Amino acid sequence: MSILVDAATMQARRTIARGPLAPLAQGLRTELAPVLTGAIEIPRDKALLSRVGGRCPNDGTLLRFDPLDPRHVCPMCGLEVSGELHDRFRPYWYQLWLAERVLHAAVIGVLLDDAECLHAAWGVLDGYADRYLEYPNRDNVLGPSRPFFSTYLESIWLLQLVLAVDILESGATHSATRGARVRERIVEPSAQLIASYDEGSSNRQVWNDAAMLAAGILLDDARLIDHALDGPSGLSELLSGALLADGSWYEGENYHLFAHRGLWYGVTMAERLGRPPSAALTRRFDDGFVAPFRTLLPDLTYPSRRDSQYAISVRQPRFAESCELGLARCDDRRLIGMLARLYDPAVAARDTGRRASTADVERNLPASGLTRADLSWRSLLFARATLPPLEPHPLASDLLPAQGFGILRRDGGRCFVGLDYGRSGGGHGHPDRLNLLLSDGDVRWFDDPGTGSYVDESLHWYRSTLAHTAPLVDGRSQPRVDGELEAFEDSGVAGWMRARADLAPGCTVQRTVVVVDDYLVDRVEWESDEVHEVAIPFHGVRVVGRDGAPIAGVPAAIEGGDGREDGFAFLADTMRVEPDDAPVRLASDAAGAGGAALRGWIASSSPASWWSAVVPGPPARDSQPLVLVRSAARRGAITSVWSWRGAVRSAELDGDAVAVGRIDGSVHVHRSTGDGWSIDRTTDTPRTIELGRGLAADPLVASSRARWATDDSTTPARRLSLPVRASLGAAHYRRSEQSWEEAGRPTCVVSLERSGDRLVVRVDVPRAERRFIAIDAENPFDNDPAAIHGDGVQLYVVAGAEASGWLLVPIPDSAHVARRTADGWSDTLPIDATWRPSSDGYSLTASVTLPPGTISFDADVLVNENTPGRSRRRGQLVLSGSHDEFVYLRADRHDRDRLLRFAFAVP
Ligand SMILES: [Zn+2]
Ligand SMILES: [Zn+2]
Repeated sequence: MSILVDAATMQARRTIARGPLAPLAQGLRTELAPVLTGAIEIPRDKALLSRVGGRCPNDGTLLRFDPLDPRHVCPMCGLEVSGELHDRFRPYWYQLWLAERVLHAAVIGVLLDDAECLHAAWGVLDGYADRYLEYPNRDNVLGPSRPFFSTYLESIWLLQLVLAVDILESGATHSATRGARVRERIVEPSAQLIASYDEGSSNRQVWNDAAMLAAGILLDDARLIDHALDGPSGLSELLSGALLADGSWYEGENYHLFAHRGLWYGVTMAERLGRPPSAALTRRFDDGFVAPFRTLLPDLTYPSRRDSQYAISVRQPRFAESCELGLARCDDRRLIGMLARLYDPAVAARDTGRRASTADVERNLPASGLTRADLSWRSLLFARATLPPLEPHPLASDLLPAQGFGILRRDGGRCFVGLDYGRSGGGHGHPDRLNLLLSDGDVRWFDDPGTGSYVDESLHWYRSTLAHTAPLVDGRSQPRVDGELEAFEDSGVAGWMRARADLAPGCTVQRTVVVVDDYLVDRVEWESDEVHEVAIPFHGVRVVGRDGAPIAGVPAAIEGGDGREDGFAFLADTMRVEPDDAPVRLASDAAGAGGAALRGWIASSSPASWWSAVVPGPPARDSQPLVLVRSAARRGAITSVWSWRGAVRSAELDGDAVAVGRIDGSVHVHRSTGDGWSIDRTTDTPRTIELGRGLAADPLVASSRARWATDDSTTPARRLSLPVRASLGAAHYRRSEQSWEEAGRPTCVVSLERSGDRLVVRVDVPRAERRFIAIDAENPFDNDPAAIHGDGVQLYVVAGAEASGWLLVPIPDSAHVARRTADGWSDTLPIDATWRPSSDGYSLTASVTLPPGTISFDADVLVNENTPGRSRRRGQLVLSGSHDEFVYLRADRHDRDRLLRFAFAVP
């Protein structure tokens, strides 16, 4: 048997490798030239990790790796260096490169019946069988290893070799003796060594498991297989504990890609073995293909959260391959949309570095245009023969509730505002809970700098709260805590996120970020029994005066924690600044996307001191100015307004109200309303926007929680207490041909409340044509009720044993509402409904009598909408969220699992 694919699939892939994927197969074949001509040598020494080896002494950048050129050259500054430590680091890359070439040669050899490739693959395997046991298992950095200094590297290396042997042995001719020798002299001892070292829920353990599983299958060793699948840190444990319920890896985006690729091997092999993970965990794994793309910045790099490398673009082959492997398993419009971007022929192609790729250890390169010919052997075996039409899919506002990262996007995805609040992220985490991120196109205003070299002093700066746009308490970096979401909602015109974290004993800090089209309001509030000083660093800006010119400060030390990772030791040119105005004005030196600078207005509820400094920029970038605002109180708030496209002229911050004066003369007055946030506008309609009023949490949040809670996750299902009121917008829109924006941003407000034993559902649609189609009208197109294609409401309620669903359509010139029982639902719950027109729309009220004693129930509300000139509905707003779905072919059916969970408040 073959470890990854069965014989029939292998046969089918031969046709594909000679057909639609021939350019990929031929490209890999060409790059094998040095292996085929014997221009390679298996390293004699084991790899050595040192501070110096492999890095540029000027800028700390990883030196270039070229398998055919042993010189050590910096790709950043061009410096060539030499020395034993560099020479001893190089086998790290070389061994991985060579092992991957063996696998390439095996795959190409079998798929294309290429004897030269088969011969070369066995040749290297023979060489490794001679040498493996000669590498000393000592002087390692992170776990036992012979050729390397860390176990997981040996795991990745061994995995390549095991898969290569397996594929070679699936071919027509092979030598049993050679295979036995590789098993005995490499696979068996290496697998035992890997099994001796358990790395818990680290991303590295994913690779240890994958290698043990592959080796266990090749050796027919049931104990090793069981250990890799079901051991204490086996595949199941990692899928359930380290891959979070939203499909994201707990250590952040950078590790996500690396870990998920390892999980791909594990899951693929487990499925072949007939021992797949549970359905819920398989779904979670499949969600993992999309997860890293949900948080992308507008420039298609991912936010450099935690110990990520800085500004890594997804325009690299392995990201395209991840989309391909995901699509090979299941359809997902987001993956297709991402491939449309990655395969965009308008993007210039550069060297993708595949010729020198080092198996599954990532070496990031600058963005490049890509095609399917740039992928790897995995795609030769797994990618679809042909792809569906690649349609771009706009990046949308999104929430990863398990990871704890909310994103509000504006201007078709060009503008990004993130609130990183949730998981602290383990050993690779940073003390940056409640971190604010702001990006406009290619310009990063509030940035997460990631981390440079692990062996450089700067690591401690990047691991400080000060290096982020996150609050710190009492002059120290935050403790390692997880934050909690309070609200996440995008109503289209405005969106907001609110989260909190206990950043000092007894001191809870809450951050609210409200985004209107081209500006945001940020409020950091704290509450405690004792006085605490809360400080917020803002990078890349200076304090400016009324005239807009920077205010020079007075040189003064900035006091703060003396811990290495408190970060204060990295501050240079420190000054105390006396602002000349309230609120205090800040501005960037640099201009952004539209030529406008970033401008800020900040006020503090208690007296504040203002400080400036020069601090390190992101790794290998210039240093930059920093403004630090500090205020001490038992409870307080620091509120700011930020404008990045020149749309804001002034901001007044008085007490609770924030008045934003816009360049067009209009004014937006923001107020916190306890659990919600309201915005009064002088010119636009609707005049008032209410965010989150009466909501314990947004339905989107609740639905995500409820959805994930049906998995075996630890997040409990949360029931929303009545009354509930929700504004539905972009995140709730199930579209047809037009996006929510293109459809004119339809919205509605849905409220649910209790009246005696009745559930009262009210739907206010502010803008509608009031095109009501008679409930029994004939549908000339298909068997679906014609009435779904006009304005109207679909209501679903499950209470006790009853599951009722209705299509409700107002009857013109009356207060009556016609109804039909929705497909697949009953009408056993008694219902009454009325409607009335409003100035530009309508409102409909339905009251449903629930069974006696009901304390909790499930419900969902869908609002159909259309526009003149269309015969079918344009879309519908869905209370439980659209999850990027289309409205097609749904008629008035609805999936019971989608209903939100509610409870009557305890009287
Ligand atoms: Zn350099
Ligand atoms: Zn960080």
